[in-house]
Order: sequence, then C-alpha cells, then structure tokens
Amino acid sequence: MNDRRCRYCQKTFRPAPYHPRQLVCSEPGCQRQRRNDYHRQKIASDPVYQQVCLESPRKWRRSNPDYWKKYRSDHPEQVERNRRQQRLRDLKRRLANLLRNTRCGLMHSGLLSLGHHCEPEGLSLCSEPRFGASTKVALISPENRFIVSLTRG
Ligand SMILES: [Zn+2]
Repeated sequence: MNDRRCRYCQKTFRPAPYHPRQLVCSEPGCQRQRRNDYHRQKIASDPVYQQVCLESPRKWRRSNPDYWKKYRSDHPEQVERNRRQQRLRDLKRRLANLLRNTRCGLMHSGLLSLGHHCEPEGLSLCSEPRFGASTKVALISPENRFIVSLTRG
C-alpha cells in the first residue's frame, strides 16, 4: 500500500487496510474537518439530508421541552453572558447598517461624536473628529476591548 498525502495536514500517511481509498489521515483534527466538509457539502446538495438535519433538533426539543428552561435557570451566568454578546451583535449590525445607509444618519443619531456612550451597553463609539472621504468608526468597550472597526469610503 502506497503512502498518501493528507489533504488537510499535508502529512503522509498509510491508508487503513480496509479503506484503501482513504484520502485523509487518521488524526482527530483532520477527521473532524473531513466530517464537517462532508456535512456542509451534503447539506448544500441533498435536500432530504438538509431536511433531516433541520428536523432533528426540532424533534429533540419537542421531546425535551424543558431542557433549555432548566439550563437557563441552572446557569444564570451563561444567560447573562449570552445576553451581553447578543447585545453586542445587535449593536454591530445596527452600526453597520447605519454606516451603509448614510453618514448623515449617524450624525443625526448623535452616535458620531468622540467618546459617545451607547446605553445600555456602556460602550464607547469613537470616530475621527472630522469626516473625510472615508470615516473610520471604532467601537470600544469600557474595558478598552476593541470590538469593531468600520470604514465608510
Ligand atoms: Zn491529516
């Protein structure tokens, strides 16, 4: 049996005796990638498979109706974390929409002033003091964590 080169990690490997056409080595990371790629490709090309994949978690939720309710009451810190992250995602999307639509929209909303705080997220929105051909806006959290930078050309 000839050695092959793994399409993911590029290392050479020897196909398993019962899988002479094996294209991916047996490393867990490479196998995971192989399954993910197969799954993605299959969902895109096979409507029945896609339907089953959509239906499966629905079925599970129907037979375990209280699971998430219980999970949320058992893990309040996760609930809070998720809420915070969702607020950030919402804010990012809103900001991106604003920038896409009009620069004026941003000015009217009062968001484009230096160091403006967006309640209730407590985030700072910083921009260059004057608008040029391209306005750069950065969103920075109170802990100075950089969140998003948007440029409008
Ligand atoms: Zn590999």
